[in-house]
Amino acid sequence: MLTHGPVSTAFDFDSRGKRAGFIDVAHSSNELAFSVIRVPVGVIAGGEGPTVLLTAGNHGDEYEGQAILHRLMQELTPDRVAGRLILMPALNTPAVMARTRVSPLDDGNMNRIFPGDTASGPTAAIASFVDTHLLSRADAVLDFHSGGTATDYVDCGFLCLGPDAGLNAANLDLADAFGAPFTMVCPIDGSGGDFDTAAHRRGVRFLSCELGGIGRVSPDSFEVGWNGTLRALHHLGCIAQPGLPAPATTRFIDAGSAAGFATAAHHGLAMLHVRLGQEVAAGTPLATLFDAHNFGEIRAEFTAREAGIVSIVRRNPMVRPGDHLCVISAEISRSALL
Ligand SMILES: [Zn+2]
Repeated sequence: MLTHGPVSTAFDFDSRGKRAGFIDVAHSSNELAFSVIRVPVGVIAGGEGPTVLLTAGNHGDEYEGQAILHRLMQELTPDRVAGRLILMPALNTPAVMARTRVSPLDDGNMNRIFPGDTASGPTAAIASFVDTHLLSRADAVLDFHSGGTATDYVDCGFLCLGPDAGLNAANLDLADAFGAPFTMVCPIDGSGGDFDTAAHRRGVRFLSCELGGIGRVSPDSFEVGWNGTLRALHHLGCIAQPGLPAPATTRFIDAGSAAGFATAAHHGLAMLHVRLGQEVAAGTPLATLFDAHNFGEIRAEFTAREAGIVSIVRRNPMVRPGDHLCVISAEISRSALL
């Protein structure tokens, strides 16, 4: 039995074969007084090769990646895997079960809490277990995100650039192999609480992605993610060439600049004039904000401050001051990232 603070598990992460199980997290609340939180895990381990950790449900209301991991667990067999895949389809299980972004037990945002600790609630404890026992085993991580309930994203890889140029270059190659139409790029989060930073700290290759959103499983976004996952696993040396057509060259876009956000300053009903993935020039009309209380009044018009790709759009159009309506991401040349 492996024990890590409130986390315990008898799961065998290391032997060859294919199996599913749980890590159990103790959390003494009214509801869980005589229960544990069962966080599902799976392993598909074949012969010699790298270890890849695949995680989804980091945010509970992001579904495409969860579906991809379930399908991987069904389809892949150890004889097709060189090395080992460790799969966690519902990383923040309480959030997944509640259909929410963060955990209802402790308000824990899994992607802001790494490397976690064992004394601050279930979300931090899961992160701490992953950081201590799974990142230490992994050569690479694929962490799946989507727009969640609140937003819709262009299907994209997501790359955080850290201080290690060699690791950045290897992660760029991984993004090329994943081959989504776009790859969002941002500097590594200064707060250090994201999973990317934890992986960088341990020198582990890391690629995230954003696949669709608005709280569903989109077949198109699933397909981008599924094909990308197989290509990335092949690139890492885990599986044979999956027999897919070569992906189009991914276009790198900026997710780190605040310049591209169109943000409401008033209450109102927002009507977007642009579509996800659309290329816009500076000055392109993005949205009109109708005054919800003064019928017939327009509260604001939004235009693009810079040229770029419409990369994120808001789901619910009834907005408050501070709500983002959409994001325009400027394109970046690959050579500028190295
Ligand atoms: Zn997410």
